[in-house]
Amino acid sequence: SHFLQRIEQADGTLNSFITVTAEQALNQAEAADNARAAGKAGKLTGIPFALKDIFCTQGVKTSCGSKMLDNFIAPYNATVVEKLNAAGTISLGKTNMDEFAMGSSNENSYFGAVKNPWDLTAVPGGSSGGSAAAVAAGLVPAAMGTDTGGSIRQPAAFCGITGLKPTYGRVSRYGIIAYASSLDQAGPMAKSAEDCAHLLNVIAGHDVRDSTSVARGVPDYTETLNAPLSGLKIGLPKEYFGDGLDADVEKAVREAVKVYESLGATVREVSLPHTHYAIPAYYVIAPAEASSNLSRYDGVRFGHRCDAPADLIDLYTRSRAEGFGDEVKRRILIGTHTLSEGFFDAYYTKAQKVRRLIRQDFLDAFEDVDVLMGPASPTPAFDLGAKKDPVSMYLQDIYTIAVNLAGIPGISVPAGFSNGRPVGLQILGTHFAEAQLLNVAHQFQ
Ligand code: GLN
Repeated sequence: SHFLQRIEQADGTLNSFITVTAEQALNQAEAADNARAAGKAGKLTGIPFALKDIFCTQGVKTSCGSKMLDNFIAPYNATVVEKLNAAGTISLGKTNMDEFAMGSSNENSYFGAVKNPWDLTAVPGGSSGGSAAAVAAGLVPAAMGTDTGGSIRQPAAFCGITGLKPTYGRVSRYGIIAYASSLDQAGPMAKSAEDCAHLLNVIAGHDVRDSTSVARGVPDYTETLNAPLSGLKIGLPKEYFGDGLDADVEKAVREAVKVYESLGATVREVSLPHTHYAIPAYYVIAPAEASSNLSRYDGVRFGHRCDAPADLIDLYTRSRAEGFGDEVKRRILIGTHTLSEGFFDAYYTKAQKVRRLIRQDFLDAFEDVDVLMGPASPTPAFDLGAKKDPVSMYLQDIYTIAVNLAGIPGISVPAGFSNGRPVGLQILGTHFAEAQLLNVAHQFQ
């Protein structure tokens, strides 16, 4: 009730929710109270949270931030949702996001931009901007996001909360509306690494319905949060401290690193030589996969359908022209172009080769150090409406995108402020190093 009231009070201003499922939540709360009274409560029974509107939620509108799915009531639950339900948590609703998770500011949503609770003239980051803003403003204690190129970590940084992108395959993608399937991964966004650990315990694990989810045991991520950090080897990628990095952000990150030194860690510079190619490679691979994934929205089986189509082709083209926003159309055009005959090898195959080199950069670095540290984003949150051209928006992803190309985990933790806007420290680990990342993040908090 407290959190529903908070949403009622503040969300008219923030616009962080697309759908609030108050009635359902209150019923679940009653069930949670009964479970508690009967001595059957688990660790997370009755804990409220929110879901990015990309997770299919049975009986609830699942819009993915798009007009295309404004009328879509999901007929089944994503595995993440099933697992959270089974753990007794209570979803308060679906949070705002960039359309089909394409964006870094939440300004691409059909449902309007979200405001940053720290400064209402600033963006909350994207694409999980609604989840980040809702947690930062205390509308929910935690939320689920997805991260294809930074969409958990960058909004977490902009809103001063903690956000974890797990290793690709750690969390099932079943029932998560697909953007770029080889990069998409779901993860928790909360006030602390400890809260993220509790949520990861619930959502991680193999799922027969997602062939890319990995059959590997799930440790209790809360057990190692206080493990000592003496001897931890930290690498600072020199490419993450170069041109374009805001001075305040750099200062906050370097001060955070000093805290780790005081806890017994050692620090050295490392190099990720192909960093420069991450954005171009991503903006070939992600739109290619998106153009294929989004071909299912044809106005026939579900989603937006245009009025009075003249014939089948008119139905397809008009439904898609009306249902998709500009950024989504831009990506579909890029993707179909790079996948077309005659261009495929020059763009798509080349980008996949670059992806392999980027992955190798990280694996080489993790031969020498345990974790990498750097900024989550080159600047703090920018003003709403400030980035008009797509390329300047894409450059936001410079420190987050390579992580998805490599499939490794990353976490953003609050590390200070610049002119009243939060700054995020990003910590990266090798594949399946989530326990270590949460441990390292927790010690800073
Ligand atoms: N900003 C990136 C994009 O627009 C990443 C988005 C994401 O992680 N979903 O593709």
